[in-house]
Amino acid sequence: MDESPKRLLVVDDDMVDRTSVIRLLGSRYTINEAKNGAEAIEASQTLRPDCVLVDYRLPDMDGVDLVRQLAPSRVAMVMLTGGGDERVAVDAMKAGAYDYVTKNQLDADRLNAAIARAFDRSRLERRLEETRQELEDFVAITSHDLRSPLTTIVGYLQIVSQVAEGVLPEQERQFVDRSRDLADGLIDMIDQLIQHTKTGRSNARFEAIDLREAAQIAVERLRDAIENSQGAVKVEDLPAVNGVQEDLVQLLQNLIANALKFHGDAPPRIRVFADSVSDQELVVSVEDNGIGIDAAHREEIFAPLKRVHGDAEFEGHGLGLATCRKIVQQHGGRIWVEPAPAGGSIFRFTIAQSE
Ligand code: ADP
Repeated sequence: MDESPKRLLVVDDDMVDRTSVIRLLGSRYTINEAKNGAEAIEASQTLRPDCVLVDYRLPDMDGVDLVRQLAPSRVAMVMLTGGGDERVAVDAMKAGAYDYVTKNQLDADRLNAAIARAFDRSRLERRLEETRQELEDFVAITSHDLRSPLTTIVGYLQIVSQVAEGVLPEQERQFVDRSRDLADGLIDMIDQLIQHTKTGRSNARFEAIDLREAAQIAVERLRDAIENSQGAVKVEDLPAVNGVQEDLVQLLQNLIANALKFHGDAPPRIRVFADSVSDQELVVSVEDNGIGIDAAHREEIFAPLKRVHGDAEFEGHGLGLATCRKIVQQHGGRIWVEPAPAGGSIFRFTIAQSE
């Protein structure tokens, strides 16, 4: 373990304040100072501090802005706020600070405790980020190593199937075709696994999204499935929400694709609509007239690889709803399924409305 003293950067334009903070810190750290935001940004690049103490008011920028600019480096940061400045503290934490201390309550214990908590959080976040990166690398490498040979196999089997016409007996030709379909299914599964791992990345950008437009993009991508099933999808008025565009399209696409797939004798009739629960929250629903889901299975279908209806009837890998749940959770909501009054299912999820 690295036992060398931790490097601290104290950012404050007021020399008296800076000196008193440094005095409180004692001798356990290597301390550097910056008088403004620009100096702090430069020092954090050249000196690579383990922790930055940021005053909320700086001559050239807001302390919260400085925190936001330093956040991508995942350095531990503690905000020093004015008395009664909870708003600044909240904004600083949202921007990437790991803790805060009010300046008029500053003492050695409080300051050192906040720095220790910031170190802990920064260490955990780094470890989490490394694990997430390792998982993504693992999926990328394995999927590439599996996907390329499988694509070649599908291509060869395609050729064999064509050449075999009239040469191989019927049953052997069926074996070839079945092998090609299975390999195709594996490629599909790899793509879904990649999709599942990719969704809900921590660096995804949240913004105001027109949910109706997102639903229409999803419907457009499912054009073939709609035609093949003679289905119809009605997208009603949907408001703007706060979210990640590509993830929300994927979420609606998975739900509508299932509604098209799990239909009974009647062609699928699907309705996408929303109800406002409050000014802040919305419940979005995808209703179908399909085969429905037994009460006993309504929770477990959201787990990865869980399928209720068998391979023989409906193709699939059991990842679509797990991906939906991951996306909804990343958006701070929850997802569930209810039986539709006229048969079929209604999948519902909550999401924050755009301000
Ligand atoms: P997949 O569709 O690939 O099987 P999902 O994770 O999307 O995987 O769905 C899991 C299971 O939930 C499905 O296998 C099916 O049994 C059930 N299911 C999902 N959507 C519906 C629906 N609209 N109607 C009936 N059953 C559904």
